[in-house]
Amino acid sequence: MKNQTLVVAKLIEHGKQYELADSDLRVERYHVAKLIEHEKQYEQLGADRVPKEVLSDSFAFLIGAAFNRRMPSEKAWEIPLCIKKKGILDAAKLATMEKRELERLLESLPIKPRWGLEEGSKTLKTAARLVMAHGGDATAIWRNASPREATRKLQRIHGVGRGIASMVVRMLRDKLNAFYGQEHEIDVKAGVHLKRVFKRAGLTETETDSAVINAARELHPEYPGALDWPAWDIGNRWCFPSGPNCAACPLTAVCPRAI
Ligand code: SF4
Repeated sequence: MKNQTLVVAKLIEHGKQYELADSDLRVERYHVAKLIEHEKQYEQLGADRVPKEVLSDSFAFLIGAAFNRRMPSEKAWEIPLCIKKKGILDAAKLATMEKRELERLLESLPIKPRWGLEEGSKTLKTAARLVMAHGGDATAIWRNASPREATRKLQRIHGVGRGIASMVVRMLRDKLNAFYGQEHEIDVKAGVHLKRVFKRAGLTETETDSAVINAARELHPEYPGALDWPAWDIGNRWCFPSGPNCAACPLTAVCPRAI
């Protein structure tokens, strides 16, 4: 029975290939379907795992998200929990602390931001200030805001650019059920893995931020950001900058390998 199910799934997949193979645009859409298929693994494997304690505390989530750059994600999500253990995961307190105090706090943590204490202290302070500007409630930053408004607001945190802000908005949607019905406004984060995979898979001609953001909007308009994780994961696990492992890649059957 299990095997029959697999055979039927393969037949349906093959049927889609047959239907979609007769124009370039349709082929691109088939690549998108492959990426979305890969996205399902994201949910099944619990990839991009955020600790429950972070997800249940919106300020902790905001801090963890703001530190999610140039360091392993699982470590970045631990930073707010380390601050919590010190008893000062409090936006009102952090917003008024001096730079040196914030640097000392970060220095005392078992996990530190990789890009330095000074930068980290600015990130902490601006995140806390953003929360205080929303009445001390981090959820007020995105509650009743559209995804684009939330993306703009999040960029007021030091070090959070458009890419990280887009990632946070996508996570708010995927993990905290925010922005229901507004997924069409949630973009991909134009990171290096995603740009490389989009270009090699024939979804874009160049590896610029605007090319990948626009391609995702055009090819998956109902939720462009849904292409984010699968493309990132493929770039991380198979589509290496040199020596890509095309044979094992989930896109192997459909990718033109524009390397
Ligand atoms: S098939 Fe090869 S070139 Fe295409 S996305 Fe996969 S690893 Fe990259």
